[in-house]
Amino acid sequence: MGTSDSAAVTEDGRYDVIVIGAGFAGLYALHRLRGVGLRARVLERGDRVGGTWLWNRYPGARCDIESIEYSYSFSDEIQQEWEWTQTLPAQPEVEAYLNFVADRLDLRRDIEFGTAVTSLDFDEEAGTWLVATEAGQRYVAPFVIAATGILSEPLDPAIPGKEEFAGTSLYCARFPREGFDFTGRRVGLIGTGSTGVQATPVIAEQAAQLFVFQRSAPYTFPSNLREFAPGELDALKAQYPEIRAAQRRAHTGAARLSAFSVMSSMRDPRPLKKATREEQLRAIDERGVVGALSWADVLSDPEAGELATKLYGEAVARIVKDPATAASLVPRYPFGCRRPVIDTGFYEAFNRPNVTLVDLRQDPLRRVTKTGIQTGQAGYDLDVIVYATGFDAMTGALTRMDVRGRGGKLLRDVWAAEGPLTYLGLQVAGFPNLFTVQGPGSTAVTSNYVTGMEQHIDWIADCLGYLRSRGHRVIEALPAAQLDWAEHAASLTDGTVLSNPACNSWWTGTNVPGKQRFFLGYVGGIPDYRRRCEEIAAAGYTGFALS
Ligand code: NAP
Repeated sequence: MGTSDSAAVTEDGRYDVIVIGAGFAGLYALHRLRGVGLRARVLERGDRVGGTWLWNRYPGARCDIESIEYSYSFSDEIQQEWEWTQTLPAQPEVEAYLNFVADRLDLRRDIEFGTAVTSLDFDEEAGTWLVATEAGQRYVAPFVIAATGILSEPLDPAIPGKEEFAGTSLYCARFPREGFDFTGRRVGLIGTGSTGVQATPVIAEQAAQLFVFQRSAPYTFPSNLREFAPGELDALKAQYPEIRAAQRRAHTGAARLSAFSVMSSMRDPRPLKKATREEQLRAIDERGVVGALSWADVLSDPEAGELATKLYGEAVARIVKDPATAASLVPRYPFGCRRPVIDTGFYEAFNRPNVTLVDLRQDPLRRVTKTGIQTGQAGYDLDVIVYATGFDAMTGALTRMDVRGRGGKLLRDVWAAEGPLTYLGLQVAGFPNLFTVQGPGSTAVTSNYVTGMEQHIDWIADCLGYLRSRGHRVIEALPAAQLDWAEHAASLTDGTVLSNPACNSWWTGTNVPGKQRFFLGYVGGIPDYRRRCEEIAAAGYTGFALS
């Protein structure tokens, strides 16, 4: 038993399963659990459904996977009824879609909003979890599904002086619901990952002056975002069986244009190192920045990678008129190290007279002051500072709660000592009956989250059905299986750019001070991963102890 007493929990607080989070995963989990006859309760800290799509409502927020693929596949009625308007859906549309699904499946009656979970304690004798919330509510259930999201804990960057700023500080991952009018304001934007890249051109259109504070330049590709043409969506809907089948076959769970396709399917079969200068230039003539990187050897051969980055810089310099700005926008790490970004007019924004790039590699950010931002060489007077500084990804949601498993061990201590080990990204040894949807070691990092998430929820729901049919009450990952899985996952990144110590990002946990370097994904691809999960289940859940 952990530190809390479960005696105070009334019948009202007892469920078969507690699901934490009402985003994409939590909503589907509730639907599936109902389907197998389990009594489930969803606890959601926000005041409505949406998860990451509820909180990340910053200007320009948009999905970088096509709407018809970044959506639930489990219900043909839902996919036929919902009308996407654009190829890459904007935040309001994804949020509206999740609300539509919640209504359509009558999910809200089993969701408690404004309910932030603060601790989970496993009662070894009873085989149940005691779940406690910020407001002091308590729930007991044998099983917990942490549908807590992979990018749900924003990083509060340790920049000195942040609290002194007299203007408005805005955080992209907690952007005000009513929006913010940047008109006439002097704005500083910190961060140029997917979030900052999306926000830049939109804020630039409104602000009097926008300073983009960039520490690492991104690799970013034009999105080809567009409205669906009349009849186009209907034609796609008619092809949904084929589209979903193609997604399941695709390494990244997305068969159409996405941030990932630049790294996989769009690759030229020829090696860049063998290409003539004319061929290289033709590639960027025809395909711009994408043409610079989509060659067979770019991800596998460091020399080719360097050549590609140089060519990428030439492509950027064709868009960005000021040569110094263009040079600052060239990444200094190998392509493939980080999640690719796709944008709508990011580079073009730097040609506007009201937009200035501040290259923090040349002139580091020293502090925030009362009136703005101070770098080593200059002071910037600002009315607004926008933080697009990223997340404590994959593990942050669970390490911020007190999750106590067998022997009262805290999950955050276990992960700090051993690395964020899991078995299949689904469970952690020592934490029985706790399922981590798209946890570290799963395909989440390098794939379409929704495709991988649906597979996880299906696997968990089937597993719970299996346990019930066999009279088992506890399922627990075995430490040896967990270790084997971690070694297997790590072996797949050996010799790739991901094993390069110069690769720093949320993928490796190195964006968070003090977090150990550990690649948080599984790059074997969704089809291989799914096959392994299915085989493990079919063999009676090998690698798990059932009791
Ligand atoms: P991110 O990729 O981690 O980028 C954070 C940015 O903030 C980086 O440029 C980082 O610089 C900078 N930064 C952090 N702390 C800083 C500091 N103290 N001083 C100066 N700069 C600092 O985070 P993100 O942009 O929010 O994206 C995270 C992930 O969310 C994406 O990779 C993607 O998976 C997802 N996402 C997707 C979409 C979409 O679907 N289109 C949109 C947004 C986010 P360094 O790189 O030097 O650390």
